[in-house]
Amino acid sequence: MSRKRHPVPTITISEPLIFEKSAPGRVGCTLPPLDVPAQEISSLVGSKNLRLEIAEFPEVSEFDVVQHFTRLSTYNYHIDLGLFPLGSCTMKYNPKLNEAVARYDGLSRSHPLQPDSVSQGCLEVLKMLERCLLEILGMDAITLQPAAGAHGELTGILLARAYHSAHGRARKFILIPDSAHGTNPATAVIAGYTTQTLKSNDKGCIDLKALQAAMTEDVACLMLTNPNTLGIFEENIIEIAEVVHSKDGLLYMDGANMNALLGVARPGDFGIDIVHMNLHKTMSTPHGGGGPGGGPVGVKKILEPYLPVPRLERADAGKLRLNYDCPQAIGRVRAFHGNFGVSVRALCYILTCGRDGLKKLSEHAVLNANYIRYRLQEAYDLPYRQPTLHEVIFSDKQQAKNDVHTIDIAKRLMDYGFHPPTTYFPLIVSGALMIEPTESPDREELDAFVEAMLAIAEEAKTNPNLVREAPHITRSLRFDEVTAARKPVLRWTGA
Ligand SMILES: *Cc1c(COP(=O)(O)O)cnc(C)c1O
Repeated sequence: MSRKRHPVPTITISEPLIFEKSAPGRVGCTLPPLDVPAQEISSLVGSKNLRLEIAEFPEVSEFDVVQHFTRLSTYNYHIDLGLFPLGSCTMKYNPKLNEAVARYDGLSRSHPLQPDSVSQGCLEVLKMLERCLLEILGMDAITLQPAAGAHGELTGILLARAYHSAHGRARKFILIPDSAHGTNPATAVIAGYTTQTLKSNDKGCIDLKALQAAMTEDVACLMLTNPNTLGIFEENIIEIAEVVHSKDGLLYMDGANMNALLGVARPGDFGIDIVHMNLHKTMSTPHGGGGPGGGPVGVKKILEPYLPVPRLERADAGKLRLNYDCPQAIGRVRAFHGNFGVSVRALCYILTCGRDGLKKLSEHAVLNANYIRYRLQEAYDLPYRQPTLHEVIFSDKQQAKNDVHTIDIAKRLMDYGFHPPTTYFPLIVSGALMIEPTESPDREELDAFVEAMLAIAEEAKTNPNLVREAPHITRSLRFDEVTAARKPVLRWTGA
């Protein structure tokens, strides 16, 4: 039985957009009286710096402002409101404890240019996070500098290039499976390589024969995601690593989303040489909208000399210090120590979960995805029947017979009060619906989502127009997503 779900606050379309609340003369705060003689101001600041007319700021009361922003927040869907099943993005609940700890004065108000001697607490936080991540990833050395997943990829590939150069090898290519995240080929090209696409086999995995044929001494590395973007664990990962290493190539793993592996399997143990991980996905930092993130990169010993400076080292008497004297390092990839607040949240999350908790959350993430898979596999086409881990990919094949497509299903979900899943990705599945519930939702929430999806599958048969014209109850109906992305209007310019 499903629990009654609170309706998501939506506004009927006929309600006027209450945005411009300014009224002449309304005041939000009172300024202290002028404490310099008015006639002297001009000579003090220079008459050309004096504003003679009041700027066109909104004239609003404090209550107006509070109402305005609270109302705007209800126009949006967010992770604290309900299930956010965006596959690959790992939109999990962010415990508020992490926020409280990140705001401690000693952490949030310290300056990155303070000398090491008075930064020991903050450096200790970073060192502890490094140790935890090395254990989780099974790697030998790590940098916390990169600010996002794609940034971690670029750092990792620059490390691979530095490593090959140091060994006198000028390699040209990077192999990338056709199921890869779009950032992988972009990274390879930005780092100066040419990409070669590896076609997946009918199980959705890397085809060993194709890999053997492509893996020459001109290939710098293979970039793979594991579990891949179909949610499938590469069952031949050990053989894959052997093929790559047999030609002195490196194996790069995009570990942006480690939600299936925590405490269960370690990239370092299955042959990975370089791996990045998104703290803002797996280790719970609020993300989306381009906010601060963290993309640490872990490496095997052979790549350690090339890691970005400064390296965090334990010196005399156990004190931590920043070492800039690393002649083979690729340099800096970001100012200071990366997004420190994100590192604090990640460490807090890891320590609260503990070893057993991390393993349990991965198991729950996998269980939740498989529960959804099991309950929807009749109503929606499942293009790959292999066991899947933390996410499941359906397609719109059955609904397409009634001319109802992935975009329509995604939009209709909004009427049921859910954020849509990732759509049309991975590219190798036509009309993909990529669902990743994470470990956060409870059984009732999963059931409500499943029932919404089942209801939509039924509507696609009996009333396809209803789905095709969705959403019906959101503030914005269907908009032109291409123009919205290419020519975004980000500023209120008045009614
Ligand atoms: C999210 C994601 C990325 C990119 O991470 P950003 O932090 O958005 O740059 C790369 N690869 C995979 C598999 C991802 O899921």
